[in-house]
Amino acid sequence: MAGHRIEIRGTVQGVGFRPWVYRLARRVGVVGRVRNDPGGVTIEAFASEAVLGRFIEELQRDILPAAEIVELRETTIPDEHLAAFVIVSSDADGQKALSIPPDLATCEDCIEELFDRHDRRFGYAFTNCTTCGPRFTIATGIPYDRGATTMSDFVMCAACQGEYDDVEDRRFHAQPNACPECGPALRLDRLDGQAATELDALAGAAELLSRGGVVAVKGLGGFHLACDATDGAAVRRLRERKHRDEKPFAVMVGSLASAQALAEIGAEEEALLTAPERPVVLLRQRQGADLAVDVSPDTSLVGLFLPYTPLHHLLLEAVQRPLVMTSANVSDEPICYQNEEARDRLERIADAILLHNREIAMRCDDSVGRVIAGIPTIMRRSRGFVPRPFYLSRPVARPVLACGAHLKNTFCIAMGDTAYFGPHIGDLETVAALDFFEEAIERMQTILSVRPDVIAHDLHPGYLSTRYANARNDVTRVGVQHHHAHVVSLMAEHGMQGPVLGVAYDGTGFGEDGTSWGGEFLVCCAGRYERLATFRPLRLAGGDLAMREVWRIGYALLHDAYDGAPPSDSVALLGDDVPETSIALVKQMVERGLNAPQARGVGRYFDGFGALALGRARSTYEGQVAIAWDQVANESILDAYPAEIDRTRTPWEVDLRSAVRAAVDDLRAKAPAGDVSARFHNAVVAVTVELLNALWADRGGLPVALTGGVFQNAWLAAGIESQISNKCRVLRHSEVPPGDGGIALGQALIADAILGDKG
Ligand code: ZN
Ligand code: ZN
Ligand code: FE
Repeated sequence: MAGHRIEIRGTVQGVGFRPWVYRLARRVGVVGRVRNDPGGVTIEAFASEAVLGRFIEELQRDILPAAEIVELRETTIPDEHLAAFVIVSSDADGQKALSIPPDLATCEDCIEELFDRHDRRFGYAFTNCTTCGPRFTIATGIPYDRGATTMSDFVMCAACQGEYDDVEDRRFHAQPNACPECGPALRLDRLDGQAATELDALAGAAELLSRGGVVAVKGLGGFHLACDATDGAAVRRLRERKHRDEKPFAVMVGSLASAQALAEIGAEEEALLTAPERPVVLLRQRQGADLAVDVSPDTSLVGLFLPYTPLHHLLLEAVQRPLVMTSANVSDEPICYQNEEARDRLERIADAILLHNREIAMRCDDSVGRVIAGIPTIMRRSRGFVPRPFYLSRPVARPVLACGAHLKNTFCIAMGDTAYFGPHIGDLETVAALDFFEEAIERMQTILSVRPDVIAHDLHPGYLSTRYANARNDVTRVGVQHHHAHVVSLMAEHGMQGPVLGVAYDGTGFGEDGTSWGGEFLVCCAGRYERLATFRPLRLAGGDLAMREVWRIGYALLHDAYDGAPPSDSVALLGDDVPETSIALVKQMVERGLNAPQARGVGRYFDGFGALALGRARSTYEGQVAIAWDQVANESILDAYPAEIDRTRTPWEVDLRSAVRAAVDDLRAKAPAGDVSARFHNAVVAVTVELLNALWADRGGLPVALTGGVFQNAWLAAGIESQISNKCRVLRHSEVPPGDGGIALGQALIADAILGDKG
């Protein structure tokens, strides 16, 4: 007999991979063993060469839906004359490596049981198996087995234990295995003072939802607030109670077919929607779709996702209509995840809570994805992804904790040749968010068995994440420039060491010259960057306030474009609800530079142009006007406003003043906002391509890396990619978010490179 050692890296632990290999080996007639190891799974297989060949072929071909093979290495080993194929248990060989996989969406087999009247798990909301169910969110420690999960209090009944112990069963070693006899149970608590009905918890919740009620639903990584997404009054009520202004709500639909009825779904979108991570997918809403307008006011995009727990499947089946399912929190605080906490915090928001007695150990918000100019892109990497390893093409010399950005915070731990993103924390602006941040770091360090003594953080001295880093006296701290981190994150995603020519367009990031950056052309390696070009700065009167009162940015554009004396009919474009006294005050602030920091972010230009052309003075959430502005663009307009590049400055500066004047002329002539938007977008594309071509010739054809939150704008990404020289390789994001949720990876690699072989 021949012997092969097969080392597999990828998502192969905790997803039922070993029993699956076992069954395959038995079927094709291979003896040997399979075990988890720190990098993945190792198989030692013995059979004739022909049988081994078939075994290895089938290993890769019929892979489990939740598993993914990143790398498969084969070596020849001497025959050991074994009689059978066995699974070596993790405890037996003393391995304590990470084996906690992400939470996995309910599999087809479990869904079938859920709706099968004759099955013992019919209608049971906590059905799961070796290839699906909760993982990260119930894990309390390592190694990942039932005792180290929040299922430890539930003692399996004889039937469940039998499944758990039987290697031929699809619940073999399924740590959260449960049934109605022995597992967690649902409960409905009314918060509206009404007496509980006779109905069971699920039926009661469904009935409330059908009547327009708001129900908090305990999910995998936290509570959602649910209501009927087709009922305008219900959606408005939820919006008011949640203080959620106009930010879009995510909507859960029962099936792909219902999603298709609401939104346009291409092949890539479908793949994203049905992926085992089950992210919320941003889609173009169909005209006349049966959804309340208030679900996503003033955008034609809608975020849809499919059920990913049995509870969701049962609930959607019971109500038979799409449900708003938005993170249960007030404004932007972290998502609720504990029963008591939910009752306190949601008292005034929900009419009832559908909860259960399986504790959530770690909260984890929904992930969000979108197909951007042909590329499926993860915009928020959280539930379903955490704590999946991300493989590095070059290992780090020491473990590093990277704190991430201020807004849309996600941290990252890099060690050896892997990096692990933590869950989505949100905006690090409240004590509650900071607590969650620190708690999640602790948890990730525990499950990874690592205590990094290097911390990478943003350069901004005022950020809570920077203060967190500064308070840690026991570590080496490395400050990392925000846009450098964006570019290096993207390089890492493509396994590149650089140099690359990075284009980092976003709203804001601390610059080394005292201005806020965000229109940056940087030649980057991990250890250093050189800044070649940027955007002309704008004065943001009132600082952060200008991001909500975007008319202030609109005014700054006019002030700059007309040399301090914008004509009154241009100022009138800012709309009627901006008092003249406010404009006079902002004018003074801009002129004197008083509480009016300079900002170069391309996102701020979007805000400012949007304010002018749409007459929209305010954003109720960051980027609202910029997003609306992107949506109105008329795709049939091909010409562009003029834009200059000032090459007398170092770095060069993109100057959009003539674009502002041309837009004002158009608006005076009553051109539709959609035409103005298109010409503005085309101007940004054209000037970016012109700059890239100039820099590219200069820099020996480096790959171009498009990164930063602005590249969620498909028009820009597609436009630049199509117009740039076809000899130029363009890198874009997919697995690592282009926005601030993705920068922690870059921070970690930069800190490691800066420290080099030291320490
Ligand atoms: Zn399953
Ligand atoms: Zn049971
Ligand atoms: Fe950014």
